[in-house]
Amino acid sequence: MTKQNVLVSDTKSTFNMAIMPISNSPIFPRAAQKPPAAPGGYISISRKKLLKNLEINGEARINTWVDSMKASSPTHIKATPSLADHDQSSWIVRHPSALDMFEQIIDAAKGKQIVMFLDYDGTLSPIVDDPDRAFMSRPMRKTVRKLAMCFPTAIVTGRCRDKVYSFVKLAELYYAGSHGMDIKGPAKGSKYKKVSEGNGVLFQPASEFLPMIDEVYKQLVEKTKTTEGAKVENNKFCVSVHFRCVEEKKWSELAQQVKSVLKEYPKLRLTQGRKVLEIRPTIKWDKGKALEFLLESLGFANCTDVFPVYIGDDRSDEDAFKILRDRGQGFGILVSKFPKETSASYSLQEPAQVMDFLGRLVEWKGLSLGGQARV
Ligand SMILES: [Mg+2]
Repeated sequence: MTKQNVLVSDTKSTFNMAIMPISNSPIFPRAAQKPPAAPGGYISISRKKLLKNLEINGEARINTWVDSMKASSPTHIKATPSLADHDQSSWIVRHPSALDMFEQIIDAAKGKQIVMFLDYDGTLSPIVDDPDRAFMSRPMRKTVRKLAMCFPTAIVTGRCRDKVYSFVKLAELYYAGSHGMDIKGPAKGSKYKKVSEGNGVLFQPASEFLPMIDEVYKQLVEKTKTTEGAKVENNKFCVSVHFRCVEEKKWSELAQQVKSVLKEYPKLRLTQGRKVLEIRPTIKWDKGKALEFLLESLGFANCTDVFPVYIGDDRSDEDAFKILRDRGQGFGILVSKFPKETSASYSLQEPAQVMDFLGRLVEWKGLSLGGQARV
């Protein structure tokens, strides 16, 4: 599937695809009445046309997914450095290190409310072979906790919200799981907490898809069990098929298995990330929309004095980087050791540098508040 979001119109079965907040929270009346959804709404195409397109472009698409995954795979890039030194250096000029540019960043943020958005895998934790063991280090947790004392802070991830919470274990953060399709406010301990009743769930725009996602998850587990190392993860509002432990020569076979399941579900779409294929509802909702929703929820919808910073390492984070570019507010930071096409302004090489950058923000805020945040 392309990155374009589509709504499939099926004349036989009507599916309510409207993006609606599940909560009628009186705490978020503006958000509940007017989610920052879909400028331009859905792109509607016929189911017949979509199936035909899948059929015609199926093989080419699988090759594209696999090639793209190889290109974004750190082990592959390490093994076959393909970029000349001057490409690397011109990229770093266009996307300088956020650590080197720290003073300029702080200058740009002065007098504005910084809001932090952090991806999880590859940003706060290293990419490891077993996605169930992508733990966050203790110093990183300590740093993120301090960060959340200084600025409203959200984790925005493709993972299931509960799963990422089990890794991060910080109640004072916002969590946007399943690529922002499952958003919850801080449970406790945040001065930026905006939810004080109920279970704190702010927004689940794809709740109608839950039974379908569950069904696809089970089918994918069954279909991919012959491919050694394949791991299917149910992220509640999306399903991830991890390639991390699959031999590279088997990637096409695994992609083919995924496609064979997906073709029965035209209301779901496939996206590709770092050693992962992800199956999601075809609604116009992504990490960028989640960022806008959270800004609105925090009361910064039309503010000029807000400074959002989004840090992420994957293609799905590009939606958020683009939103920030379009808004002309704040900026994105891409975590990558290698040049990549990106809408982020700055770069950091790895989670250890992310921790340094977050630590410097905390230190700067602590200094500017006379030490209040230095705990
Ligand atoms: Mg990531």
